[in-house]
Amino acid sequence: MANIVAIVGRPNVGKSTLFNRLTESRKAIVDDFSGVTRDRHYEMAEWIGKKFTVIDTGGFVHGSDDIFEEAIRDQVHIAIEEASVIIFMVDVKTGTTDLDDEIADLLRRTSKPVYVVANKVDHAKLHHDSSEFYAFGLGEIFNVSSATGSGTGELLDAVVSHFPEPEEEEEEDYLPKVTIVGRPNVGKSSLTNALLGTDRNIVTDIAGTTRDTIKIHYNQFGHEFLLVDTAGLRRKSKVNEDIEFYSVMRTIRALEDSDVVVLMLDANDGIEAQDINIFHLAEKNKKGIVIVVNKWDTIEKDNKTMKEFEARIKEKIAPFTDVPIIFTSVTEKQRIFKVVETAMEVHRNKTKKIPTSKLNEVMLGVIENYPPPAIKGKYIKVKYATQLPGKAPMFAFFCNLPQYIKDPYKRYVENKLRDNFDFTGVPIQVYFRQK
Ligand code: GDP
Ligand code: GDP
Repeated sequence: MANIVAIVGRPNVGKSTLFNRLTESRKAIVDDFSGVTRDRHYEMAEWIGKKFTVIDTGGFVHGSDDIFEEAIRDQVHIAIEEASVIIFMVDVKTGTTDLDDEIADLLRRTSKPVYVVANKVDHAKLHHDSSEFYAFGLGEIFNVSSATGSGTGELLDAVVSHFPEPEEEEEEDYLPKVTIVGRPNVGKSSLTNALLGTDRNIVTDIAGTTRDTIKIHYNQFGHEFLLVDTAGLRRKSKVNEDIEFYSVMRTIRALEDSDVVVLMLDANDGIEAQDINIFHLAEKNKKGIVIVVNKWDTIEKDNKTMKEFEARIKEKIAPFTDVPIIFTSVTEKQRIFKVVETAMEVHRNKTKKIPTSKLNEVMLGVIENYPPPAIKGKYIKVKYATQLPGKAPMFAFFCNLPQYIKDPYKRYVENKLRDNFDFTGVPIQVYFRQK
């Protein structure tokens, strides 16, 4: 189940400010590493151990004032259809506007949880000003100041009360789940059809627990997995297909529900900002990743083209570059099966458990050869390492002074884990802890 929180509201009420606040701890980490600027309108957040994706719908509205209103109405409709929880933001300084009333009308018709957030309540004096928003008929009003963060804790408590406890999220089925994501027209449906063929005997539609995910059972040539499909659903709401916001919502859902994400690109376009966003979202969600460069048949190439392409992609997705990249032509049936094999290999890497004895034998040697630099004359001694339980690889290294271990050293250790144990396509985490 995907936990998606959509922030809706008219322009300038403070949606992106709240978005930044809810996602800030993570943003800093990402921005440090990647040189690319991305327009980030969706991002993972976490509150009391529960993870969810926040979407700033304002980021998807482009254009002049008159198309604003139409676009905002569309977004509210989509948010009602797709999000798990909706935050409706209004501005205590301007009070209720006509557009606010219109949005409230739409939101009153949904049974999904809607929270009215009165923003810019920067000091207690303004608290009672927000009482006018009770007229929306949408229940309790949350007074917040996105600028200072005050009131956001109560809001988040309410929002995450709709999400399951982390340990309750356990798998209902143990087959690996794979999803193909990518921009429109890159060839996702063509690949799905090529993989499943027309032989309906091998295809079973398993209706998911919610109507949003269809999982198709693939079992051929010694590989078995569930293909998490959104294409079929896209057809149902044809009207929405061209709206970027809508396809992003779909992608996030499919992605959160999968173990391995196949990110498909069109060789003619290369990797673009939107693809990089999806890549980072998959990375942060600790999903296995395979990049597929499709329509390779349409590219003029010599013996260096593939290498150059690969280098360009890796530059853009850095620092996590240990990711398989496959060049396919779905129409010419080139390397299609390689995609399946690679996705399964990535899944094996993701679920792999390194025996503690082997881990220590290799990694303590690696660390001894290049120990963490001493700080203020204090030596850091790493005593032992262990893989922690979890759905994706996590390693703890126990030492005397974990607070002195800096990021470059953590990255060195991560790279050595990759060199020695093969975690291709899988985000891994390295922690240093007090012995
Ligand atoms: P959006 O268009 O809804 O995404 O709104 P923005 O997040 O871009 O904010 C619009 C303006 O309101 C900006 O100038 C923000 O600095 C300001 N703003 C946002 N939150 C607050 C707040 O809590 N208090 C005050 N005083 N200003 C805020
Ligand atoms: P989707 O929107 O990502 O599902 O893309 P589709 O599977 O609908 O493909 C979009 C278009 O690209 C269709 O006309 C396909 O026939 C074409 N297409 C898909 N794969 C390839 C390929 O490998 N090579 C070429 N030349 N065209 C392709």
